[in-house]
Formats: sequence, structure tokens, C-alpha cells
Amino acid sequence: MEKIPVGILGATGMVGQQYIALLANHPWFEVRYVAASPRSAGKVYQEAVGGRWNATRGDLGGPNSPAVASLTVEDANDVSRAMAAVKRGDLAFVFSALEMEKDEIKHLEERYAAAGIPVVSNASANRWTGDVPMLIAEVNPDHADIIPIQKKNRGWDKGFIAVKPNCSIQSYMTPLWALLQAGYEVQRIIVSTLQAISGAGYPGVPSLDIIDNIVPFIGGEEEKTEQEPLKILGSITGNSFTNAAGPAISAHCNRVPVIDGHTACVSLEFGAKKPSIDEIKRIWTSFKALPQELDLPMAPKQPIIIREEPNRPQPRKDRDKDKGMAVSVGRLRPCNVFDFRFVAVSHNTVRGAAGGGILNAELLKAKGYLG
Ligand code: NAP
Repeated sequence: MEKIPVGILGATGMVGQQYIALLANHPWFEVRYVAASPRSAGKVYQEAVGGRWNATRGDLGGPNSPAVASLTVEDANDVSRAMAAVKRGDLAFVFSALEMEKDEIKHLEERYAAAGIPVVSNASANRWTGDVPMLIAEVNPDHADIIPIQKKNRGWDKGFIAVKPNCSIQSYMTPLWALLQAGYEVQRIIVSTLQAISGAGYPGVPSLDIIDNIVPFIGGEEEKTEQEPLKILGSITGNSFTNAAGPAISAHCNRVPVIDGHTACVSLEFGAKKPSIDEIKRIWTSFKALPQELDLPMAPKQPIIIREEPNRPQPRKDRDKDKGMAVSVGRLRPCNVFDFRFVAVSHNTVRGAAGGGILNAELLKAKGYLG
């Protein structure tokens, strides 16, 4: 099968690098276009990234990133360069991993879509746009079906925007969804996240702030952690999404001295019907969704992995499970205030960023919206 040529906006950043590493041997997609800030534009990719190469999945220029190292970086703000790449047959859609002012990203992604180039985004800028789906492929794949409505709303022909949610919610959203899908209502959640420094991009948090320390504040993160699940659990009504009414979520988000892998400590309260611990384990172990049914290349075989050891999951030991795409859960036990509590770990730049974006693109292709 001829591979679909893809581009990465923000290709030089933490998430952009993960895209390049993860797409190196992808069976459907091939990176043929890279773009970043005007500071990097015009340089060869390897030179533009220089000593910032951080992706944990192989060296730049090595077997995990063959041809990309020698691509010339374009200015992501110059959509006409991307349109020229489309004409040449070097670009069908872009992954957006840009870090700029929110409004700038929102308008830039819209300019790509208006130019006929679909955007699969990691940025938060369009997450709350009413007709933009915020996808976790295992949880709300049906939300992709707003794309024809979005195109009609905007008068876009081929282009559209689909986003993924914040990395902080990835570790508990799939376990939560598995329980909801099994028929258990969840009313209230208290979650404390312990988030890796790679979540702040490069160079990220100053070393003097984070070594030997915990920073109990990540701007905007608690709001995202509390509100984004409600859109994901919501539904398409008319021309846009209506949020779910619950569960109510209270979040504490902390930056901790871990390089990759976000941890979430979760207490949850069920409605009148409460599962046993054995039932929760059975639901999590057997959980499979559309990406597994379709056998999408980036989908984890088992989305939720239960650790029975008393001291797991841990970011260093569990973040890479199943290509970095599985969520590891453990310490499931009764809660003295709510019903149950557990700890979950997911890889923030893979499941929570580039890997999740690739899985979304695979889902969109399987549904006929891409390629
Ligand atoms: P990052 O390491 O700071 O990388 C930012 C990228 O944006 C670089 O390629 C940079 O290019 C480019 N850029 C900066 N200013 C620009 C401008 N004015 N015009 C065009 N390009 C510009 O950030 P990151 O951690 O990879 O995050 C990228 C996006 O993913 C952000 O929206 C972030 O919120 C989101 N996200 C990150 C994570 C994570 O775990 N890190 C998880 C989920 C979502 P230069 O190299 O040329 O400066």
C-alpha cells in the first residue's frame, strides 16, 4: 500500500519529535513535511533540532527516523508552503504539535483546514470549539462523525480539525469509560496528578525548580482535567457538542521530577449501583474498543493493564507498556470517603500526545475521513 504523506507542525518540539520517532516505521503514514517556528525554518531538520533531540524511541537519523533528519524545516505560519507540498504530492494532512499563543494556534489550524489540509491536533486551542471533536479513540470514536457537520458549518471542502484532549486525563479516562460503559454511573471523582516534566515541552521547567522538588501548580491544567472529560462524554446535538452533566471532578495537578509518564491518584464515587473490586478488575481486563476491533496499528492490544503488585504502577516501569499506549492501573482498593481508589500511569508524550494523535488519525482514516 502506498503510504499517505503527512506533515508535522511543531516538528522540532517534544511532541513533534515523538511523532517522528513513532511514525518511522508506520504502515500507513510517512513524514514528508516538517514545520516549526521561523527560528528553525530553512534549516535541515537534524540541524534545527540539534541537541534538543529527546524522543525516547531511537536516535534522530538512526533506524527510527530515517529520511526525516534531512528534510528542510518550513515555517509553520506559512500555509502556502504546505499547499505547495500538497500539490507536489508530499502532504495529505498535518499533525499539529505547536506551542504558541492559544489564539494564534486556533487561527493557524483553521487556516490549514480552510486550505483543504486536515489537522489532527495535540494543542488545546481548538478543544473547546463547538464543532471540533476531542477524541480518545477508545472512548468517543463516534465524535469523529461531527466532521461532515464541521465542514458544512465552515464551508470547508477537504480540510477539518480534530483534536485530542490534555495529557493529564489520559491515565484515568479509559478506566473511567470502561466502568461507565459497563453500566456503572460515576458521580464524583477526586484526582491528584503527578505530571512529568516533558509535559511542559522543551526546555520546560527550570531545573532549579524541579530537581528535589514538586511544583503544585500547572497553569490551566486543573481546569482541563476537570472539564475536558465532560465534552468527551458528551454527544453531538445539531451543529455542535453538548457536554455531559457529570461526573463532578476535582483535580490537583502537580509537576514532579519524572521525565516521562503522568500518574493519577483517583478516588471515585459510584451511583446507587456499585461494582465489587473483582468486577472492576474484570471490566478493566476485558475492556476493548473500536481501535482494538479494527486492529489499528497504534492501538494497544490491551488498553488497560492491571498491576497487582502493591507498589505499581510506576512511571519508569510502566509508561512504555504496549508501545507506550496502554494505561497501567493498580492499587485498586476501597476508599474511606468515596467508594474506590486507584493509581493509573500513562506515557504523556506518547499516549497523551503523539501516539494518541497517530491513533486518532488511524481512526479517522478507518472511518473514511482521511486519505
Ligand atoms: P515544545 O517542546 O515547546 O515545542 C513547540 C514547537 O512549536 C516547536 O516545534 C517550536 O518550533 C514550535 N513553535 C514555537 N513557536 C512557534 C511559532 N511562533 N510559530 C511556529 N512554530 C512555533 O512543546 P511540546 O511539549 O512539544 O508541545 C506541543 C503542543 O502539544 C502544545 O500545544 C502542548 O500543549 C501540546 N501537548 C504537549 C504534551 C506533552 O506531554 N509535552 C502533551 C499533550 C499535548 P521551534 O523549535 O522552531 O521553536
